[in-house]
Amino acid sequence: MSKIKLAIVSRDYKEYLSMFECEAQLLQNYEVIYAGTDNDSVKLRRVQNESEVLISEPDIAAKFAHKCQSLLWIQSTWAGNNVLQKSDLKHIKVSGVKGIFAQRMSEYVLSYILYFHRKIEQYQNLKSKGVWQQLPIDILSNKTLGIMGLGSIGKQVASAANNLGMKVLGYSNSIKNITGVSEYIGDDLYAFTAKCDYLVNLLPETDTTIGMCDAKFFNHMKKNSIFINAGRGSIIDEPTSLIMAINKGFLSGAVLDVFEQEPLPQEHPYYLNPNIHITCHTAAVSEPTSVFEVFLENAQRYTNNNELLYLHDFNKGY
Ligand code: NDP
Repeated sequence: MSKIKLAIVSRDYKEYLSMFECEAQLLQNYEVIYAGTDNDSVKLRRVQNESEVLISEPDIAAKFAHKCQSLLWIQSTWAGNNVLQKSDLKHIKVSGVKGIFAQRMSEYVLSYILYFHRKIEQYQNLKSKGVWQQLPIDILSNKTLGIMGLGSIGKQVASAANNLGMKVLGYSNSIKNITGVSEYIGDDLYAFTAKCDYLVNLLPETDTTIGMCDAKFFNHMKKNSIFINAGRGSIIDEPTSLIMAINKGFLSGAVLDVFEQEPLPQEHPYYLNPNIHITCHTAAVSEPTSVFEVFLENAQRYTNNNELLYLHDFNKGY
């Protein structure tokens, strides 16, 4: 029986190749025909002509996957596969990665909540001036976290916040009856935002989420609340909507991990605003060992003609 031709076109191709070699027994039906990061047509000619399966970051795959004549399955290394939505790939199975980001994302969200809640920056400023001053600090169980997107990541962030005693509200497309979470859908968006001391976006990028956080949205957030965006940058319609909401005092601040353009250009106004905290799309990185475990499970499903895990739904956009 001829082997399934696999191409690894990834920034982490060395790690994936070495893991493939370690699991050669389990992956005996697969043959790696290319491993690298190049996406020029000469090196990728064999990939384009012969590969049936591709492991790749979606931003890389989006540049050439539509030219691969034999391609049937892309194992993406990311949770959000919105960039592939625009490519002509609806005939191909695209599987994402889930179940590997929640711990890191929970750490990210809770670190910033505790940073603001325990007034770490204010104490640091007082210390730099040699001032001993006790600041009033509430307890976290009096605070509410709102989570936009109760998917694989949002659910786990909810549980971590519950464990710290926070009240948790969630907003998604459908009610899921998650213990410890008061759920909102559809037109109840502003009833939801108005109650949250901290609001984290964990929605995917889709036609309906692009531009969702506009001036009206920020005006409907609770006064002095904090907005955390770790979903996708395009949810903010334009930077001035967020900056104005902070400058006018509706919001105390924002924490942004994702941006419409990454890297965020050096001249971007977000850098200059002291109440905007920036990280570099590192809230929950795709760690190759964990991604490869998902691939291994899917590779066996693929050879046995079983449904793949975490398939991207091109109709829903996530
Ligand atoms: P899932 O696909 O598991 O969940 C998505 C959730 O969003 C679902 O609850 C869905 O509702 C909800 N949803 C989608 N569209 C809407 C809408 N228009 N209005 C309301 N709710 C909506 O995704 P994950 O939890 O795995 O990942 C979420 C996102 O996090 C990724 O798409 C990615 O963009 C981002 N991410 C960021 C990382 C980082 O490092 N910053 C790392 C990993 C992921 P329903 O279930 O009802 O359909």
